[in-house]
Amino acid sequence: MAQKGVQIISVEPGSLAEEAGLRPGDTLLEIHGEAVLDQLSYQYLITREDEADLLLQRPDGSTFEAYVENGGEGIGVDLAQDEVKVCKQNCVFCFVHQMPKGFRKSLYLKDEDVRLSFLYGHFTTLSSSDDAELDRIVRERLSPIHVSVHATDPVARIKVVGNPREGDILRKIDRLLAGGIDVHTQAVVAPGLNDGAIWQQTVDDLWKRRKAGRGSVLSLSCVPVGLTAHREHLPSVQDVGPDFARDWVARWTPEVRKYAKACDGEPWLLLADEWFTRGGIEVPGRAFYSRSWAQLENGVGLVRRFLEHSRRFIKSPRAQGFQGRRVLLLTGPSFAPTLTKVVADLNRAVGSHLRVVAATNFSFGETVTVAGLLCGQDLKYAAHADRDAKGGKADWVDAVVVPSSSLRTVTGPTDQYTLRGAVVREEGTFLDDLTLPQLAAELGVPAVPSGANLSHLLDHLEAADRGAFRGGALTEAFHPAGLNQPQGAYNP
Ligand code: SF4
Repeated sequence: MAQKGVQIISVEPGSLAEEAGLRPGDTLLEIHGEAVLDQLSYQYLITREDEADLLLQRPDGSTFEAYVENGGEGIGVDLAQDEVKVCKQNCVFCFVHQMPKGFRKSLYLKDEDVRLSFLYGHFTTLSSSDDAELDRIVRERLSPIHVSVHATDPVARIKVVGNPREGDILRKIDRLLAGGIDVHTQAVVAPGLNDGAIWQQTVDDLWKRRKAGRGSVLSLSCVPVGLTAHREHLPSVQDVGPDFARDWVARWTPEVRKYAKACDGEPWLLLADEWFTRGGIEVPGRAFYSRSWAQLENGVGLVRRFLEHSRRFIKSPRAQGFQGRRVLLLTGPSFAPTLTKVVADLNRAVGSHLRVVAATNFSFGETVTVAGLLCGQDLKYAAHADRDAKGGKADWVDAVVVPSSSLRTVTGPTDQYTLRGAVVREEGTFLDDLTLPQLAAELGVPAVPSGANLSHLLDHLEAADRGAFRGGALTEAFHPAGLNQPQGAYNP
């Protein structure tokens, strides 16, 4: 990797950086003689020792050295945002390739950044990671990393990722493991592409690389392929229908338990919730999922976690806050049956009048059933249809609830990564740029995000009672996580 350094945007008054003569506009080239590659590398190097030798460059190109005794702490500089790295693959099921036209530019960005994998659990195929970057991961101990394997068989992997140079994923994984880096892995499974013997080989190859101690394959999840109605000029990929999903669950559920037994009860092989929701099967109990909810962000265990929380919440005094509320909850068809059962329990327990409607995804196509990909227009349509069906009264409900996962939310530290000139939308914006306040204005009743559980939902409904939509704008922050958070997408 070329040494470019990272530009200093601001220097805190009275800080060590100011005392050492650093100024905004300077570029931080090296710390301890090692190249500063980005913000992550700065954090690693500056906190590594109690003092630091810095090499900097002025805007006129001259260089200078500085020394700080920082006690292993930051020195009071804000650094320029890092640019997200872009993927070099051409996966046959890439969701970006299947996006309808006309959405905001940032949604078409194919990010593939190992730094985001480390920081936020995003999956990377490691296509943008050359040996130098793999060594950097080892050097800076960026562990664990989340890797999309898809298939360990090189021919199958090339077919899946569409890149003839990226067949040998095990070589890259082995380099990380040898350096003591732990790896969570996943495969997106498509019938006839990487299931059957190819999947079995993937399981076997990765299981061999699981061990006690550092440098282990910590988990392997399988996720059914997701296809939209927008696959013009793309390779033909078979969808995972209910029968295939049921067969998969029947075949691999005992294997999940077998591997868990070999790992002292901690599941290693993980089945995404979508296998169960697509197959119309109830998700298994808590023991089926990792104690630490590993790969939750990849859709493994979200439904079980929601059910566990709901069971406890409904028994709590706080649940009475729902009493008498008439609320319409919109969600995706895959989550609707689960939510309907929970809401029935809540209504019975506290006397609330919550109803669930599964919104059809007209924007991406009806095969897309997850809540997180519903667009504002889909939700608006579903709410209008429900109002018409209930007699068309303007106040037919007190509030309409939309999935939090369908909204852009503040991404926190992820926002330090820029999106190649793309405009990042405000919090509370749907994929199609409709905003929550606009939806509320259209419907004539408050539109509130679901949050991740019933407790969050009640917080949001109470915020709406306080007029959180006053003036057509959000006046309060919301819990960011969704009831059915999509995998790893970093929410641009
Ligand atoms: S690695 Fe991800 S972003 Fe890149 S082509 Fe594959 S699915 Fe798309």
